[in-house]
Amino acid sequence: MTDVRVRIAPSPTGPMHVGTAYQALFDWVWARQNDGQFVLRIEDTDQARSQKKYEDELMQSLRWLGLAWDEGPDVGGPYGPYRQSERLSIYAEYAAKLVASGHAYPCFCTSERLAALRKEQQERKEHVGYDGHCRDLATKEVEAKIQAGCAHVIRLEMPKEGACIVEDILREPISLEWGNVDDQVLMKSDGFPTYHLAVVVDDHLMQISHVIRGEEWITSTPKHLMLYEAFGWTPPTYMHLPLLLNPDGSKMSKRRNPTSVEYYRRAGYVPQALLNYLALMAYPPIGDEKFTVEQLAEHFDPAKINLGGSIFDIDKLGWLNGRYLREERTPEALLAELKGWLLNDEYVGQMLPFMQQRLETLGDFVPRVAFFFARQVEPEAEDLVPKKREAAEVARMLQTAVWALDEVVEWDKDGVAEAVRRVAAHWEWPVRDVTVPLIVALTGERVGPPLFESAALLGPELTRMRLLDAMKVLGGLSKKQASRLEKGWRR
Ligand code: GLU
Repeated sequence: MTDVRVRIAPSPTGPMHVGTAYQALFDWVWARQNDGQFVLRIEDTDQARSQKKYEDELMQSLRWLGLAWDEGPDVGGPYGPYRQSERLSIYAEYAAKLVASGHAYPCFCTSERLAALRKEQQERKEHVGYDGHCRDLATKEVEAKIQAGCAHVIRLEMPKEGACIVEDILREPISLEWGNVDDQVLMKSDGFPTYHLAVVVDDHLMQISHVIRGEEWITSTPKHLMLYEAFGWTPPTYMHLPLLLNPDGSKMSKRRNPTSVEYYRRAGYVPQALLNYLALMAYPPIGDEKFTVEQLAEHFDPAKINLGGSIFDIDKLGWLNGRYLREERTPEALLAELKGWLLNDEYVGQMLPFMQQRLETLGDFVPRVAFFFARQVEPEAEDLVPKKREAAEVARMLQTAVWALDEVVEWDKDGVAEAVRRVAAHWEWPVRDVTVPLIVALTGERVGPPLFESAALLGPELTRMRLLDAMKVLGGLSKKQASRLEKGWRR
């Protein structure tokens, strides 16, 4: 086999998803088994949504999991830079090559034209997609438009007929009709590449041998294969992993399950158990269901990957985690683990500014701050509903609080307070009718420490889950109710 080089290529647009950890795990295992290299590349070309803080969090989460990378933006390496925003001139150069070789073309269609086209196609119940309008513009016309500074994108010319065969070592070849693949935009009008161009250029230049990623990317693969062909490059070997699923069989999403690695860390799961559980999502037990990533690297056989997709069952993860705590730690190691987690001066110290005024005896402290350490709390429905309010409207309010809090950029007490005020203003409720249910949701108790400080210290992930749990206690919201509510909220 050629040198094995794999990569994880996350976009830093939110907290690190367990799905990213799951891919990283199989990358790491494959690299480890084959004495290869594991590369971390940050795909931050979505300027509006990428944030440095998410990149930092991602690296922290990967480190916590113990999945070390050999090359990356922080450690460098021979194929850098490893952040796509630092490689813009490379993409421009390669896009220009494709235009020069006739594989790609500038497209001057305005967003108005594209919207009108989409509407017409929808009305005529036709395939919705780009119609190739700018494919055959005369060279003179193109030059004149560019000279005149007309905004444009670069599109890849796609075959209109036949089928693309996607080879994947985990499954039979997959045949996808070219007719369903649009002339893909490679460069946006702001000079940034799209994911499709950047991923192919980088995987090639970084000499990635195997692309291990989620199954949701299979339908994008024809675009990538077309790019490899246009450049005259050999594509990598693909391994599309089965998806992680919600209990109802849909793709795992944070609407129902906690999806961020940070949630699991914060709620007290240990990295070995989380990785082991993620491995079990696609791989059979190695003798026992409990096995380490090192064992997996030793025994790994891609043919054993089970392609069905697995339901992420948080109770089963809890059970496995318990086994690690009971079977894999001496009492001393467990104590060290608790200290490293949250039972330390730093965390407890942050409670004192607002707890000191609330104590009569030292013995009051632990019971009052227990919710900061708990995996979950159990609020009572009657405590969650302020006087003269109804359970259903409080559940709706809590959902808007989840959305408002999702948008907090700087997660501190002022950021939380601002979100809470927005929620109160939206419903035209007195602020108390918002803060009372929130404090009950977070602490499980009717009275607790101040809301904004508590949420700030609890962190966004646990706060979010506790609000979702409280909504369930109040009967929850159907998907339909939530989407109606969201329209009103986002207006
Ligand atoms: N940036 C893509 C993501 O966020 C990478 C997909 C791939 O691995 O090709 O998932």
